[in-house]
Amino acid sequence: MTHRILRWLPALCLFGLMAQPAVAQQPPYDLLVKGGHVLDPKNGRDAVMDVAIADGKIAEVAANIDPSRAARVADAKGLYVVPGLIDIHSHVFYGTDDNAYLSGGPTAVQPDAHSFRSGQTTLVDVGGAGWRNFPQFKSEIIDRSRTRVLSFLNIVGHGMKGGPVEQDLSDMDAKLTAMRIRQYRDQIVGIKVAHYSGPEWDPVVRAVDAGKEADVPVMIDFGGHTPPLSLEDLLLKYLRPGDIFTHMYAHVRGRIPIVDENGNVRPYVLEARKRGVIFDVGHGGGSFLYRQAVPATKQGFFPDVISTDLHAGSMNGGMKDILDTMSKFLNLGMPLADVIKANTATAAAVIKRPELGQLGVGGEADLAVLRVQRGTFGFIDSGGGKATGDQKLECELTVRAGRVVWDLNGISHKPWNEIPPPDFSAPPRRGTRTQQ
Ligand SMILES: [Zn+2]
Repeated sequence: MTHRILRWLPALCLFGLMAQPAVAQQPPYDLLVKGGHVLDPKNGRDAVMDVAIADGKIAEVAANIDPSRAARVADAKGLYVVPGLIDIHSHVFYGTDDNAYLSGGPTAVQPDAHSFRSGQTTLVDVGGAGWRNFPQFKSEIIDRSRTRVLSFLNIVGHGMKGGPVEQDLSDMDAKLTAMRIRQYRDQIVGIKVAHYSGPEWDPVVRAVDAGKEADVPVMIDFGGHTPPLSLEDLLLKYLRPGDIFTHMYAHVRGRIPIVDENGNVRPYVLEARKRGVIFDVGHGGGSFLYRQAVPATKQGFFPDVISTDLHAGSMNGGMKDILDTMSKFLNLGMPLADVIKANTATAAAVIKRPELGQLGVGGEADLAVLRVQRGTFGFIDSGGGKATGDQKLECELTVRAGRVVWDLNGISHKPWNEIPPPDFSAPPRRGTRTQQ
């Protein structure tokens, strides 16, 4: 607080002379995002407004906030100001362990290297860690990232290490999974089932058991089983309302797709949505086909949540990042407000963290400023097929807990010749860094 009083001192003196103590008590804002179109579905905001931030929190959202009340102003004219995006399907348990795949191996990616440049302030790692190695994930990644990293614990105790480790039914323990979730409520928000290829339902049953015990949702990557398991039974019998079916537009060997051979969304899929099962994109390297998404969205079957399935194997193919994935749905006819809602308010509700994905006053100041580019753009699916579109999202600015962590074109920065030159007279301060 001290630095803010010092910063305001001249004004305080001035106000003192002018005998206006009421105004003098008004604290200055650290950052004002000015003139952007605020889309904040949770709070029903859809209009040009200013967003003021102080002490890492949203301080005020209103039309025409005086820029002189802020230490720093970001010009968001012509841009959309949205809550920090949430990716509910990513793989960020990066590491260099041998044979560790997405559980401490190099196929996962570093969260901060991908999040902010795409407007994301929260990444949910799904299934990288299991109950056994969650503490390693926490100390090596979660605690060291500026991105808010949350976890869906794998029902496999060793997590997503690939190969036989993920086929071991004896390492899928509902009680110990639930116990670990209760120990780390702030970071663990769900349970993941993935990659098991046997004919048994045990992984799903045990994950749901653990989910009931710990009161968290489960996310199911359902492909592929030999022989294939019934998609209808999964969606209507095994999953609870609030559980998540990811890779919704996939068509992979061993898994029944949601659109049938005649191009119709299967009736039981529609029924599952009615009973509250959540449908998530989980694009990845092999799980988004226009042959599924085009007929499904023409029939109105859009995703509840748009996620990436980001990892080293997916990020340089058809899936580029969250904004490219969201842009695909914009161009499939999903309104911008719905696309934003999917990855803010809805994503937060799905992981039962309703304080996230919104710009309520007093909440942590996580936001993104997005540009909707107009032109001709190409988008590639995971089968190598291309679609064109005329809209594409780009991230201009990302703020995490009140700090600018990404500014593509310097909209929150002053010209170089208007900022003071470096001052080497003071000793370097350890543990502090200048805001970007
Ligand atoms: Zn995945």
